[in-house]
This record gives sequence, structure tokens and C-alpha cells, in this order.
Amino acid sequence: MKYDKVLFYPFRKDSTYIHRKETLNHNLGYPINVCYEHHAALAPLLQFYLNNCGDPFTENTIDFHSKDFEVAVLDWFAQLWEIEKDEYWGYITNGGTEGNLHGLLIGRELHPTGIIYASKDSHYSVFKAARMYRMELETINTLFNGEIDYADLRSKLLLNKNKPAIINVNIGTTFKGAIDDLDLILQILKKCGYSNDKYYIHCDAALYGLIIPFIQHAKTITFKKSVGSVSISGHKFLGCPMPCGIQMTRKSYISSLSTKIEYIASTDATISGSRNGLAPILLWYSLCMKGRTGLQQDAKMCIENARYLKGRLHKAGISAMLNEFSIIVVFERPNDHKFIRQWQLSCTRDMAHAVVMPGITRETIDNFFKDLMHERGKWYRVGTIVPPCLADDIASQNCLCCCHKMCH
Ligand SMILES: *Cc1c(COP(=O)(O)O)cnc(C)c1O
Repeated sequence: MKYDKVLFYPFRKDSTYIHRKETLNHNLGYPINVCYEHHAALAPLLQFYLNNCGDPFTENTIDFHSKDFEVAVLDWFAQLWEIEKDEYWGYITNGGTEGNLHGLLIGRELHPTGIIYASKDSHYSVFKAARMYRMELETINTLFNGEIDYADLRSKLLLNKNKPAIINVNIGTTFKGAIDDLDLILQILKKCGYSNDKYYIHCDAALYGLIIPFIQHAKTITFKKSVGSVSISGHKFLGCPMPCGIQMTRKSYISSLSTKIEYIASTDATISGSRNGLAPILLWYSLCMKGRTGLQQDAKMCIENARYLKGRLHKAGISAMLNEFSIIVVFERPNDHKFIRQWQLSCTRDMAHAVVMPGITRETIDNFFKDLMHERGKWYRVGTIVPPCLADDIASQNCLCCCHKMCH
């Protein structure tokens, strides 16, 4: 019975609902969008074995692939990130991590002696790439809000002027949702004497790559600027029942990576061998169903809901921070791991964060807030312990601990 339920839950309206509702109500810590409806229309696709191994743009001799869908999805992102159809190259990855691995690899192939510069708030996959490729790495400090520390970047660039720079730019850091200022980074490179052929920029836009382009006044992600590659996760903001992602770069860069593989009768410049052929169809389906309008609505709603949550926390005297154009609310770490577990919060040092995704409604936020206030009353009732000070983590102006709240 149990097995049966697990196997068939997506096809049963009632249990789908229960599964969804629970996930929707209790996952605040990770950027998962569970609002997708692929199963209703696309479940029959599971009868096919679909493998997109090799280059998306070259024909395989093997028939069971979905490369037409893959290219359609890539074209969609090429338009979004402003690069001509005949000037880009990309592929659908297994997730944001593979995109980072690929982007940094292109950087290394173009600049074999290059140094990776990444802020310490970068995703762990960036540091993984540096280790895997045995590349020199300069870890850059961050500002309190999670953005790269531009002064530190400048001084480290100046120290290493004899070697090219491969920079990982965060379009939304994982924990604080901070967006590095690409224009400022390009300016710094120029001022430090790095010409166009002495640097490579990879943009890690795992979560925000489908938010930022739809927000007024936010700087768009565009290949019109001097960036080498952009990658996102497909299963995060857009929502997909399986991990996947998009990696895009300039076509002119890819020849250094591409090798002809006789066995699959295709060229290969990807990281994986066999690649998921179902993911491109699911992504294509979501993009068609939502369109830019739907994504824009989602982005706007999430940002408003995040502001709402941060506002409620601040009003209640709880330390919290929310970056501009961000859907990630950083706040004091709850003093109870059952509570953390219950809301699936992700924590680091004295901070927790809530990622306000499309499935997180005002009702969920209110329930979370009520629960937090109720439990918090118990944690700090006796007065022997007090809420943590977050001044070092999110700056004193966002900290409402007993020392700092007086200052506001
Ligand atoms: C989630 C995330 C990644 C990794 O994406 P996966 O799809 O989990 O591999 C990379 N960078 C950032 C900023 C992320 O938030």
C-alpha cells in the first residue's frame, strides 16, 4: 500500500495535493519551486529513454534524444540574456553546479595560467571546481550584505597582474541573495590594467537568473557586457521535478573545448557523457506555459512576499536583512533544531534564511511568523539566554539584539 502510494502519487489528485501542501507549507530554507504541473501532461514521456549525450547542435546517429527541445530552450535563454542565435553555445546541464564547472573550465582553457577569483559567499561548487582543476584561487572577502568586497578584489587583482583573471560573479549568492555589481567589477578590471583578453567572467545566476531579468530597475543579465558564460539551475526558480540547469557561453570560446568523439558520432564540449533528455522537454514546457509574463508575476510576487516577511520580523524586534531585488530573508538563527527542521531552515553561524519561492504564500509566511513568535517566547522567556547579536553577519543597522536595538 505504501509502495503503491509512493509510486503513483503524482497521478492521484488527492495525494498529490497532500504531498504538495506539506512541502509548500514547510520548506522555507531551500530554493525549491514545487508549483509545476508537468506530470499531468508529460507523464507518458516516462516510457521513453531520452539521452542527449554530446553537443546539442550536432545530429546524433542515435535517435532517442530531445535535442530539438534542448535547442529551443537554449534559444529562449539566448534571447533573455541578449546574445544572437549564431553567437552562443550552450547546453542543458544537470544543475547549477555543472554550469559552474563548465563556465570555469572554459575560463581555464582560454587562460591556462589564470587565477580564479571568487567571493567567500560563492556557492561551494566554485571552490570544488578550483580543486578539481587544480587552479590557483583567490578568495575575496564580502561586504556585510554578501556582495563581493570590491576593494579586496582590486587589491588582489593588482597583486597578481602577471596572470589572467577568471572571475566568478554571483548573480545572487546562495545564503544572502546578494548580487555582485558586474559593471563595477568590469571597471575595476580595466582600472587595474586587465585588458579584455586578460580576463574571463562567469556569472553564477543559479537562482536569480530568472528573477533579475524581470524586475524593473535591476541590472539585466546580458552578453552585451563582457561576460564569458552564464549558468542557472532549472529546478530552482522555474521549478522542475528533477535537477537540471542551463549553461550558456560564446560560440567562439567553445572550439578550444570541443573534441570530435567517433563513438557517439558527435562532438562533445559538455561535462557529462549521457545527459538527461527529459529535462529539456520539462523546461520547454514550463517556459511555454509561464512565458515571460508568468515569470515576471512570480518574481514580483516573491520579492513582495519577502519584503513582507522581513517587515514582520523587524516590527517584532527580530534581526533580519533583505537585499534589494532579493527573495532571501536572512534572520536570527532559531534556538531550537526542531523548529529549524520543521521549517526546513538552512542555517549558518547565527543566521538562518528563508527563501520566499513562488509556492510560499502570505498564509505560509503568517503561519511561520506566528510559530516563530510563539516558540521564541519560550526560548528567551527566562532571560538567561538572549537572541544572538547579528551585527557582524548582517551589519548593526539590521541587528535588533539587546545591544543594537537601542541605536536605531
Ligand atoms: C544552488 C546554487 C548552485 C548550485 O546549483 P545546483 O543546481 O544545486 O547544482 C550554484 N550557485 C548558486 C548561487 C546556487 O544558489
